[in-house]
Amino acid sequence: PMLKPFDFADIQITGTIFDTYITAVDGMNFYLIDQHAAHERIFYEKLVGEYENSDKARQPIMVPIMINVSLATSENKFDWLDALEKMGFTIAEFGQNTYRVSEIPMFMELSEAEDFINEFIENIQNSTNLSNSVVINKLIMMSCKAAIKANDKLSSAEIAALIKDLSACINPFSCPHGRPTFIKLTRYEIKKMFKRV
Ligand code: ZN
Ligand code: ZN
Repeated sequence: PMLKPFDFADIQITGTIFDTYITAVDGMNFYLIDQHAAHERIFYEKLVGEYENSDKARQPIMVPIMINVSLATSENKFDWLDALEKMGFTIAEFGQNTYRVSEIPMFMELSEAEDFINEFIENIQNSTNLSNSVVINKLIMMSCKAAIKANDKLSSAEIAALIKDLSACINPFSCPHGRPTFIKLTRYEIKKMFKRV
């Protein structure tokens, strides 16, 4: 499990500023949380989860795509076979270091599919299950639209729910665009700013 820099359970919400940022403290730190970025992250992970769990629409292809991979890649097939399956490819081993693709995702052109698979396998080390940037961008846009905005006034119940949901995120630290969801100042850093140390 990822080491979190603080335990969200210990956080105490002290208020909001500009109807945009939530202020909070725990024993050692002060937090400024961007309500839109935080909510966007929560929505995004929810949508990704739904995407990954849904049965993807597939289309059969007349002539199967044959993929040849290196021995090393073949040995790591469990890393990428499953991921491709989840994205809507039907792919099976077909002899030594060769794989046969018989179905591709509905949203993909046949000409795109082969390039996509090869690229995906090549970059598997850096890839997540969702390495299709088209899908990712779509999910990011949907989360941005659905999330509460800056300048939206939140009730304390809504703030509490937001912090709780953020703490359940796999990556609570940034929104899907890469902006931080919160800024943290330690008690020591604040002390230093006031030249108390
Ligand atoms: Zn946004
Ligand atoms: Zn964002």
